[in-house]
Amino acid sequence: MKPIIVRSIKLYPIAMSLVETLKTSSGDEPFKTGVVARLETDDSVVGWGEASPEIAPGYNYETVGTALHIMSEFLIPALLGKTITSATEVPSLFSRVRGHHMAKHGLEAAVWDALAKTNGVSLAQAFAAYLPADHQSRGYANVGVSIGIKPTIEETLEVIEKRLGQGYGRIKLKIEPGWDVELARAVRKVYPNIVLMLDANSAYTLADADRLKQVDDLNLLMIEQPLGHDDIYEHSKLQPQLKTAICLDESICSADDLRLALDLGACRILNLKPARVSGYTESLEIYKICVAHNLPLWIGGLMETGIGRAANLAFASLPAVTLPCDISATDRYFDPDLTEPPFFLGANSRIAAPTAPGIGVEVVEERLEAAAQRWTSEQVYKNYF
Ligand code: MG
Repeated sequence: MKPIIVRSIKLYPIAMSLVETLKTSSGDEPFKTGVVARLETDDSVVGWGEASPEIAPGYNYETVGTALHIMSEFLIPALLGKTITSATEVPSLFSRVRGHHMAKHGLEAAVWDALAKTNGVSLAQAFAAYLPADHQSRGYANVGVSIGIKPTIEETLEVIEKRLGQGYGRIKLKIEPGWDVELARAVRKVYPNIVLMLDANSAYTLADADRLKQVDDLNLLMIEQPLGHDDIYEHSKLQPQLKTAICLDESICSADDLRLALDLGACRILNLKPARVSGYTESLEIYKICVAHNLPLWIGGLMETGIGRAANLAFASLPAVTLPCDISATDRYFDPDLTEPPFFLGANSRIAAPTAPGIGVEVVEERLEAAAQRWTSEQVYKNYF
């Protein structure tokens, strides 16, 4: 690989209006927020990365504010002027900063993009270069769609009908105590054969095991993160009580976390969000663990713009990502997105991974400027609380 020298990095905090807000057990998300990194090399190649912190520290402790602080004060100085031959060198450059995985991911992703563009390869090819020869990209990701908490079961059924009509082959329902058993049973009754799963976003405790057992006979693909957002141990107590596979999401923040979860028997499926685990380097380690343990793997989403979604699609096109991913077509999230062309849902509930060098989509810089302007002018923090 031809190396890059990092000449400059500019950060854009963004607020994107959503086509449809997503209500989860942690509340409504009025905007999709994040921090976009524009990295320029000495050869004037531009690499893009997206960090996906929320407005408030609800998903994890990171926010747009902490990401801007950590990136500009600590992480960017560790990259500027550096000659980088492989994006897998980035975590060691960031090793003096503990945590702040989303901030690290945003910058590491920009390095992956710049290196791939410099070397004329797609990100899918760049990732596969670190895997055994039989792990080349399939060229597409299998995808599904996530449906937030709605006021009524009838409205949920209407959305499911719409999404199935659009061609999504897997439906995920967000649940919380009181919006779970009745909902899942009603949906299963209307749709006995769809691929269906539930995501609790850590809304339950081990004391709710009997409640969760009530959905155990619904032939669910999985129940995602039922217990604490940072818990592995109690999930290992719950999994043996359920036939349904538990999928861990929030509590797997590193390859070591996954090793622990597997050792304890805390999950049978993994939702990998590259942003949550600090980037694609750590994601590749986790991918290899999943291969070694035959653990079904899929790629989750943080409502990324086209910048982050293109890169996640590239990763999701790797062959050991065996289950449908939470990556939907552009029209599910934004109108317009920050990038062109939009992503479309293809046949068999697939989205094609870009094939052009790097992230493989073009960033429309006026839209990025507008999203940054919206972040400032809408006083997003103030309106949120
Ligand atoms: Mg989840």
